[in-house]
Formats: sequence, C-alpha cells, structure tokens
Amino acid sequence: CGVIDPDSIEEYIARGGYGALAKALTQMQPAEVIQTVRDANLRGRGGAGFPAGLKWQFGARAKGDVKYVVCNADEGEPGTFKDRLILEGDPHSLLEGMAICGYAIGAHHGFLYIRGEYTLSIAQLEKAMQTAREYGLLGKGILGTSFDFDVEIRVGAGAYVCGEETALFESLEGNRGEPRIKPPYPTDYGVFGKPTVINNVETLANVPPIIEHGADWFKSVGTAKTPGTKVFTLCGDIVNGGLIEVPMGTTLREIIYDIGGGIPGGRKFKLAQTGGTSGGCITEDQLDVPMDYDSLAAVGTALGSGALLIIDDSHCIVDVARSFAKFFVHESCGQCAPCREGCMRLLQIVDGFTKGTGTIEDLDTIERLARVMYMTPMCALGQTAPLPI
Ligand code: SF4
Repeated sequence: CGVIDPDSIEEYIARGGYGALAKALTQMQPAEVIQTVRDANLRGRGGAGFPAGLKWQFGARAKGDVKYVVCNADEGEPGTFKDRLILEGDPHSLLEGMAICGYAIGAHHGFLYIRGEYTLSIAQLEKAMQTAREYGLLGKGILGTSFDFDVEIRVGAGAYVCGEETALFESLEGNRGEPRIKPPYPTDYGVFGKPTVINNVETLANVPPIIEHGADWFKSVGTAKTPGTKVFTLCGDIVNGGLIEVPMGTTLREIIYDIGGGIPGGRKFKLAQTGGTSGGCITEDQLDVPMDYDSLAAVGTALGSGALLIIDDSHCIVDVARSFAKFFVHESCGQCAPCREGCMRLLQIVDGFTKGTGTIEDLDTIERLARVMYMTPMCALGQTAPLPI
C-alpha cells in the first residue's frame, strides 16, 4: 500500500506480485500450500484469531465437488478501516491470496462480500479483477495450468451483523442477514450449503508473502504465538490518527506515544477500547500489555479487528458506555431474545445512570444480565455486546 499504483497490475507484478501464485501452482501440491500456511501460524485477522491453515485444512478435507472461498470484506466495526486501505491500495494481493486459497482447498470460485459504502474499494477491485483476467491470472487455466479460479463481488447493505460469517452467507445468498446456528461450520456447510473457507481481507493479503518467502520468514516478526504484523486503525483522542502496521506484540504504550504522538493537548490517557465496539477497554495500568490475541484476552479484552479507540480524561465513561449500548441496540438482528431484549435493557439501565436515576441494584442487574447475554445468544454480536459495558 502506498508503494505501487493500485490501478497498475504491472507495478504489482514488478514487485513480485503473483509470483507466489505461480510458485504454488507450479512447484507445490495443495497440501504443501496448506502446510506452509499452518507452519507460519497465520491467525485470522478478522477478530477471532483462528489459525488460517487449520481452516484451510478443514476446507480441503470437506467432501464435495463444489467448494467456495469467501473473502469477508464487510468491515463494519466503528473506527475500523484497515481492510478498506488494503482493498484500495493493494487489491491484487487479496486476489492472489484468494486464488492461492482456492488452489489449496480445491475451490474454483471465490466471493468477495464487501460493504456497500466502500464504493472506491469496489471500483478498484473490479478493475483489478478485469486486468487479472486479461493477464491470465484469474479465470480458466491460470498461468497455463489446469487450475481455474475466478472471483465475484457481492455488495452488502450495511448491517454490522453481516460480518458474522454465517449471516454473511445468508446475505450473500440474497436472504436476510441473520446468523445460522453452528455447527455445522462453514468448512462443511457454508455459502449455498457448500464447503466454504471464509477469511478476512488482511488474512488473505498475508498469504502471498508467506508462500513466497516461507513460514520461517513470516515467523521472524511478531510473537511466538501470533507471528507477523497487524494493521491497526488509531482513532479518538490521539495526535496522529490513521492506519499503522506494526509487529504483533507491540504494546499499546508504544502505539499511542511513539507512533501516535500521544494525547492532544497533553491530556491524560483514560482508556483505550481495543477490537472495536465489541471489544473491552484497557486502562493506564495495562498500557504495556503486548497487542496480540492471547495477551489481550488475558486482560479481558480482544484484539478484534484492530480498531483502537483512544479516550482521554475529558470524557465521561458512563456516556461512552451509553454510546456502546446504543450501537448494539441498533445492530442486533433481533433473531434471539437474549440479544434483542438484553441489548435494550442494557441501554435503558446505562441511560438511567447518565440521567442520575441509576441505583446500586442496577449495577447488579447489569452484571447478571451480562452473564446471561454472554452465555445464551446465537452469535458473537450478542455475546460481546455487554463486554464494553
Ligand atoms: Fe441476532 Fe443478536 Fe442473536 Fe446474533 S445474538 S443472532 S445478532 S439477535
């Protein structure tokens, strides 16, 4: 991103682009490709951190002649725009990653599910797909081999829940975007009922360099359990807001004060919400926690999609909590009661505190409700809704 002209497939190729796809197709068996991604320990960058290679292995082993690769580009987390920058600035890396995944699992068709608001990303991808076809890098007989693979774009209509993989499948199929009950998992029963491997944009964009340089190269950056880099969006009360890519395990203190330039006006740091609206909040005494999946989970929050919302001491935390609660009331798909009713009750209670009518009993109710909501909804949206509260 920022190095090549995203409109130019020649510039991408001149910097080694599509070399990994060529290597995979001509020098590696599908199982070797999967093993390389497994050895690299590439973990899903969409939020859950599930090992991509393991998912690919499940997809490859699934029975069925027709399989699909789905790229989740429904980046709906408030304050997150990391995938958008990849889609706009380096679209071929994603297409190459999808084609490699298709080869590895035995799929010939990919769907790119992208949020409708990303008009520039959609235009860039359409151009990139067209030129890739003209160069024989997508379509029938890629690079003169017998491997066929093409990609189709499906545009979403702006529902946060459609970032959940099974809701995404429903929406992609033209249905109302509501999560399915799991199991069955997508690698057995995905889009159109076929085995499907679904990965986030950033995850797939990491694949070509792993195939090109090998698993050890990838593991030379980041932490032992989460190698590689992570793209974060830095927003809120920060001098240098924007998009950064840092090694996994970089601390929040380094991100805020070394890269982000600190808090505007020299104000005091109050908290950071990591992982977007469904993430938890970390306070000053946790600023040195390494930013990776396991370390953040250990302090009760999440790396999530990579959104970092920095909040200084001028903000009332109860008002902030209210805005989180309001978001979930709006975004709950309404399919199951614990989330549909629970989100509304949470908002009502937190709202009472902002108006001075909250009671000490309300705090107990929040805790009890949060536990029920964590254990009983159908999908992660309802489970994580009480987390920031
Ligand atoms: Fe819909 Fe919420 Fe239930 Fe998920 S948890 S299925 S978003 S109502």
